[in-house]
Amino acid sequence: MSLKRLIKFSKTIGFRVAAWYSSIFIFSALLLFFAAYYFFSFTLKNQDHEEVLLELDHISSLYKAGGINAVTNFMVKNHSSPRTKPLFVRISDKTNRTCSIISPELWKDFDTSKLDKLFLDDDRIWIQLSAIENDYVLEISPARLARNHRIQVGISSEGRKKTLHGFRNVGFFIMIPIFIIGLIGGSFLSYSTLRPIRSIIRTVRSLDIKKASGKVPITETGDEITELAILFNTMLDNINRLIRGMKNSLDNVAHDLRTPMTKFRNRTEMALRANNDPDLLKDALEKGVEESNSILKMLDILMDISEAETGIMNINRHLVDVSVLIDKIADMYQYVAEEKGIIFKISTPINIQIEIDSDRIGQAIANILDNAIKYTPSGGIVTIEAQQIKNELLIKIQDTGVGISSEDLPMIWERLYRGGKNQTEKGLGLGLSLVKGIIEAHNGRIIAISEPGKGSTFTISLPGRPLNPS
Ligand code: ADP
Repeated sequence: MSLKRLIKFSKTIGFRVAAWYSSIFIFSALLLFFAAYYFFSFTLKNQDHEEVLLELDHISSLYKAGGINAVTNFMVKNHSSPRTKPLFVRISDKTNRTCSIISPELWKDFDTSKLDKLFLDDDRIWIQLSAIENDYVLEISPARLARNHRIQVGISSEGRKKTLHGFRNVGFFIMIPIFIIGLIGGSFLSYSTLRPIRSIIRTVRSLDIKKASGKVPITETGDEITELAILFNTMLDNINRLIRGMKNSLDNVAHDLRTPMTKFRNRTEMALRANNDPDLLKDALEKGVEESNSILKMLDILMDISEAETGIMNINRHLVDVSVLIDKIADMYQYVAEEKGIIFKISTPINIQIEIDSDRIGQAIANILDNAIKYTPSGGIVTIEAQQIKNELLIKIQDTGVGISSEDLPMIWERLYRGGKNQTEKGLGLGLSLVKGIIEAHNGRIIAISEPGKGSTFTISLPGRPLNPS
């Protein structure tokens, strides 16, 4: 592995997680070992000291009972048998000169003559005598005996140090497998923890942008990774929807712009061939403006539909009085309806208030109303009704017009679909797609029922809690 790849690898989360796991595991094991070592050494030292103090007490009581002879007899008897941990016993006179040391050959490593010069009047203190050639220590505690004798009992740290040395060796050999287990365990934990993330990475790498397909597998663990995978899939779905929406919009724009653009070009060509005839030129320019207006309008509506369908339409909710909104739209169409000889009826209870985007909902109502007037012949009736039912606001627009055939009815929501085989009315076939998009962007529904020759009813239902103080 090159140095560059090694540096890159050391920056990966996988490596860092493994390093953290392993370090914490190994560090905890080391900490545990040192704590055990400390307590073990502490206990051994305490045991040694206790043994010394017991002996000191025993000898003191012997001295009290039988004087120095009783002590010497006990010493000779007791210390002649070999012990696992021999005790150092020294009896001195009142000037601290050595009277006797039991088994002096055992203590030749220590310069016991130093004790002659030490002040040993305090009971139960600890004096340490270092060995001459090694790092063992003779720990001695003195006691004053009556009748001008003193006694010092001690123990060498040799036994303790050997036991601790063995403990350290065992610890060292245990640490090797613990170290290996820590590294393997850390790598395994990091591998299994990051498996779902690797799966997400694989999925993202294999995503086919053109087909906008692919899903991250959802694990059953129900943890944060599952949540991330679910969120990721939701995001993918949203992106797919956006891509599809954009693709459809582009297809539609390309398809629908072709006709007006061709017309526009033909007219311009004709005008160029008109040999500067002012009437023909004026006519061509007027038609050109008309065509470009309709192209611009179509582009605007297509963009709005795309935004609504892909869920990115900006919905500016605020509290709106529905009857005021409907009255305002009805006012705009009153004149057209009258012109066409259509009876226009409005029935809305006053002061129904609901949180909606008044511009967008107004646009939707206006589109349906426009169709109703457009597809209703003279003498027909167009009605708008608003109703509040529980937590729903219903807006119903009814006409007694030409109606929609059962084949056309499911298709009227499609972009650029224009029903009626011999359609004579002007239109782009985009109005109802936009209406549906706007209503769904408000989490509402719209349904249409119609009977050819009798008329159509469009019902918008919007969720929310309309406030009706009356
Ligand atoms: P258009 O611009 O053609 O009106 P829309 O999307 O608004 O486009 O409507 C799609 C089609 O649905 C229309 O072409 C028409 O055939 C049918 N339609 C919509 N509203 C009515 C209605 N009130 N009465 C009869 N037909 C209707």
